[in-house]
Amino acid sequence: MPRVRNWQLGREMSYRFDGAAPKRQFAAVFNINRCIGCQTCTMACKSTWTHSPGQELMWWNNVETKPYGGYPAHWDVRALALLYQANPGGQSWDATAPPSPAAPYGTYGGKTLFEAVDGFKEMALGYLPTDEEWKGPNAFEDHSTAVSARGATLPVHEGWFFYLQRICNHCSYPACLAACPRNAIYKRPEDGIVLIDQERCRGYRKCVEACPYKKSMYRPTTRTSEKCIGCYPRVEGSDPLTKGIPMETRCMAACVGKIRLQGLVQVEPDATWSKDPTHPLYYLVQEEKVALPLYPQFGTQPNVFYIPPRWAPRPYLRQMFGPGVDAALERYMRPSRKLLAVLQLFRASQKMIFKFDIREGPKVGEIQVGGAPLELFNDTAIGYDSQGREVVRVSVEEPSFERRGKVNSL
Ligand code: SF4
Ligand code: SF4
Ligand code: SF4
Repeated sequence: MPRVRNWQLGREMSYRFDGAAPKRQFAAVFNINRCIGCQTCTMACKSTWTHSPGQELMWWNNVETKPYGGYPAHWDVRALALLYQANPGGQSWDATAPPSPAAPYGTYGGKTLFEAVDGFKEMALGYLPTDEEWKGPNAFEDHSTAVSARGATLPVHEGWFFYLQRICNHCSYPACLAACPRNAIYKRPEDGIVLIDQERCRGYRKCVEACPYKKSMYRPTTRTSEKCIGCYPRVEGSDPLTKGIPMETRCMAACVGKIRLQGLVQVEPDATWSKDPTHPLYYLVQEEKVALPLYPQFGTQPNVFYIPPRWAPRPYLRQMFGPGVDAALERYMRPSRKLLAVLQLFRASQKMIFKFDIREGPKVGEIQVGGAPLELFNDTAIGYDSQGREVVRVSVEEPSFERRGKVNSL
């Protein structure tokens, strides 16, 4: 198989095709710490794209309760077990070298899904979930690992759970695309969105089998597979609502908890991100390294990144997000002035933010974090759209207004 560069693994790996990086890449950061599990995102997607016959059990966006929940059931446990069987004891990272742009989390020494197969009969290691496993999208909702009589304290809660928000990762090296014998799946050169050509698809379900995140789904009424389309009319600005300016997708724009920030990042021919410290996603993922890929060891180079939950056990989080977890949580819990300001941009505008700027404000307080003081400043983050126009201005302290006189007609 050809060799491609996977920056999340800090090394080259085997993939069915030569790397053909898009000009820009659909990407997002989800802050797990802020999710309230309201499923508004889930319903925003469902009511837009998957409300027709044959799509009843199809949830392109879902929010599952970890560690027990999953859609389809146990998808990640099963994928990890397959990898382990293919390479017992070898799924490890070397994170001893200082982080670099080419290897921000260290070097992965184990096998990816592409390296665990022969590359002739199978293109990626996977399995086909049963019908039963697709039926309970929100099984184990809010189930905790234990009931604590002593209350919950950091760094790890005695009984814990967290919400994991999931959409297709529009991977740089999609397993679904590699596995399709009809070559019906393609990655758009303009934005990296991964789509299934419904005319070419014959419903063999090789993509469903290969996608480790199980975000390609079979529709029995059309006998084709379907998946998240990245709300591409909004992303490309062709939806009349957008007035030609790239907008956030339905699941992002609807997020009540303001946990999501989505955008398009510039990428290099080897699928690394072009340096752009004023882009909020570049800043969060590449500079602060506060947001991490989901199961980078699968090898697909996913483009949705997560700020891990502060209260869950670190070994669990390291398995899920790689060895960058400890540093990411340290930075999130003791944020720099800039990071605290950029975090305010989440869900502040429906238009995609391509650039940000910070205006410094006065000191407004001091708190204790981990026994050390942390100064807080009321800085302002300003977001600009694809045309360089200001679309949002948000401060660290939420402004409050006192109403004068009578309220309503009383
Ligand atoms: S998450 Fe799955 S369906 Fe989406 S691009 Fe990656 S491999 Fe394909
Ligand atoms: S990006 Fe659009 S299609 Fe994809 S999960 Fe979100 S709402 Fe659904
Ligand atoms: S809408 Fe936002 S807060 Fe609500 S479940 Fe979805 S990601 Fe979480």
